[in-house]
Amino acid sequence: MKIGIVGTGYVGLPSGVGFASLGHDVVCIDMDTEKIDALKAGKITLFEDGLEELFHKSVSAGHLTFTSDMKEGVENADIVILAVGTPPHPVTKEADMKYINAAVRELALYVNGYTVIANKSTVPVGTGDAMEKIIHDVNPDADVDVISLPEFLREGFAVHDFFNPDRIIVGSDSPKAIERVKELYAPFGEKVDILFVKRRSSETIKYASNAFLAMKIHYINEMADFCEKSGADVYEVAKGMGLDTRIGSKFLNPGPGYGGSCFPKDTNAMACMARKYGVEMSLIETTILKNDARKTQMAERVLNSVKDMERPVIAVLGLAFKGGTDDCRESPAMEIVSELLKHDVDIIAYDPKAMPTAQKILGNKIRYADDAYQAVQNADVLAVLTEWRDFKSLDLEKIKLLMNRAKIVDLRNLLDKEKAVHLGFDYVGIGR
Ligand code: NAD
Repeated sequence: MKIGIVGTGYVGLPSGVGFASLGHDVVCIDMDTEKIDALKAGKITLFEDGLEELFHKSVSAGHLTFTSDMKEGVENADIVILAVGTPPHPVTKEADMKYINAAVRELALYVNGYTVIANKSTVPVGTGDAMEKIIHDVNPDADVDVISLPEFLREGFAVHDFFNPDRIIVGSDSPKAIERVKELYAPFGEKVDILFVKRRSSETIKYASNAFLAMKIHYINEMADFCEKSGADVYEVAKGMGLDTRIGSKFLNPGPGYGGSCFPKDTNAMACMARKYGVEMSLIETTILKNDARKTQMAERVLNSVKDMERPVIAVLGLAFKGGTDDCRESPAMEIVSELLKHDVDIIAYDPKAMPTAQKILGNKIRYADDAYQAVQNADVLAVLTEWRDFKSLDLEKIKLLMNRAKIVDLRNLLDKEKAVHLGFDYVGIGR
């Protein structure tokens, strides 16, 4: 099957590599010519575990190519997948549709023969209808079906999730489009079940799911605050709760608040949509407000640990919005660093993968270390902000010798608390 994927970012690239690995012929299209030039030259443009190897294999097998020319990417495609960004509008916080609208207007000119336009970008309800209108306005002869194909991959696990999806949701009532989607996923065999629903239901499922997960995180964070005051241990509480299959054990990890490219923007977009339809969604509204406030509270926790000092040195471990990715979009770690920078502090940071991304945003406002041990050298407090697995195995004895003061604020509860306390660290974690 011939597939054009418009947008070669955190969704488009792993999806392109995934479909090409399944034997489809994929052209990844992006207007960012630098990105396309790098990919053409065999250089992967983002970090995802296992992606690079599959990328090289698919390119060598001739199943994966790249272009910044929309015509070249879509004119032969049986299915065009949209994976462009839908960032929050800076003022209204609604999903900004400028990239979707521009991409649809352009691709409409070049679709050729019956083509399914599958929308993987997270978009407000009714976008499928709007896309159909744009296509028919631009090219009245276009023979297309627009379907919703929301993406559920987790950054950091994109390759795993592509090959082991929990679910594939397809929003369409066109039998012809449905047949084509079945063909797209045919290489998975019995492994995947596709749930076919109305296009508007499919568009809603994505937001409803992300908002629910965001609320679950907010809930356990509030429970963690309660445990700190009441003398309970949030991990024991979460474990006990998670044994109830109606609740489930996932997403009950307390931390500095959710972030990343999806939850903040999707909760905001959901709240905006609900307001538009005149529906009250107080749970989501509260989650957004409290989650924003949590980053400031977490920064205060770090500052409190050095409040007796003038211009303390703060060693920050982790800048990505979560472990396993180089993505810093709406990263709680980055927001906490920005909060800390409002005070007279000296920050030195290390992240295994996100240093280049973070450096583009923070520039020389902070210093950067080559590894975790360099970061903690002469530091007055160590703040763990991202849950990188590598940090778990750090040698705490060595860290104690390197630091100026033995203080840890572990906002991911990642380090071995008992060991840290035994070594004489003043250790502050979350929820216990
Ligand atoms: P991204 O910013 O990483 O990538 C988007 C790409 O689209 C960029 O490379 C950009 O240059 C390109 N682009 C924009 N307009 C274009 C146009 N007109 N023509 C060609 N290329 C164009 O974004 P992302 O994280 O991959 O997210 C894409 C969509 O998928 C968003 O709607 C997001 O909400 C959704 N989503 C993301 C994730 C995730 O984990 N990142 C998960 C599920 C869903």
